[in-house]
Amino acid sequence: MIELEGVAHRYGAATALDGIDLDVGAGEFVVLGGPSGAGKSTLLRVMAGLVRPTAGRVVVSGQDLARERRAAPWLRQRIGLLFQELALLEDRSAIDNVRLPLDIAGVPGRTARERASAALARVDLAGRERLRPAQFSGGERQRLALARAIVHGPALLLADEPTARMDAASALAVFELLHAQCGAGATVLIASHDPTTIDDVRVRHVRLERGRIVEDRAATCPARVARPAEA
Ligand code: ADP
Repeated sequence: MIELEGVAHRYGAATALDGIDLDVGAGEFVVLGGPSGAGKSTLLRVMAGLVRPTAGRVVVSGQDLARERRAAPWLRQRIGLLFQELALLEDRSAIDNVRLPLDIAGVPGRTARERASAALARVDLAGRERLRPAQFSGGERQRLALARAIVHGPALLLADEPTARMDAASALAVFELLHAQCGAGATVLIASHDPTTIDDVRVRHVRLERGRIVEDRAATCPARVARPAEA
């Protein structure tokens, strides 16, 4: 799904990524960890086609992003983004926020409404369609943004700190929702320094430090298995 080769990125004199080689297969669930400033956000933005690397090769879904002339519309159909800066539209209802990717893709109105309602139900916000984002709590707003990120059934879901400012129970619920996307066939990459994660056995951990990959720990099993302590 994703092939990165020698990817580097500099913001002026600051090096954010420095020689990243990474292959992520379809259906994998990857958590990008590491301290603040390690390059996690930049790496997700490179994969989303939002940041062009200063060097290296970025292939997403078989397409070389450096060669793709019209990366944005092409990517929008295949990728779901959960980034802080993609703010909810405060003057629109919850359902109008969630259906946005479908409207952009030209999905007819009634189908878009039905799919947006189904996405809201998946994040446990059924029946809240007509409310404005301001009427949701912090954690609920994050789930609303998640519904918007998954509504078009993306093959790749990229999420930057999706559990920021959430309590442990809400964070766990969001991780489980994101993991369920893998079960539905999507590849999911999350940047997070939140220690709350689902079973380690189901997660591939990639740790960044100063723009380099310093650890890459594969998931030992894609489905839940008993840990030694439970066996
Ligand atoms: P992380 O997500 O792990 O906190 P980032 O990818 O946000 O890391 O940042 C990596 C490095 O790049 C940091 O040193 C950060 O200060 C720098 N950086 C990130 N975005 C910008 C920017 N827009 N302009 C200048 N430097 C940036």
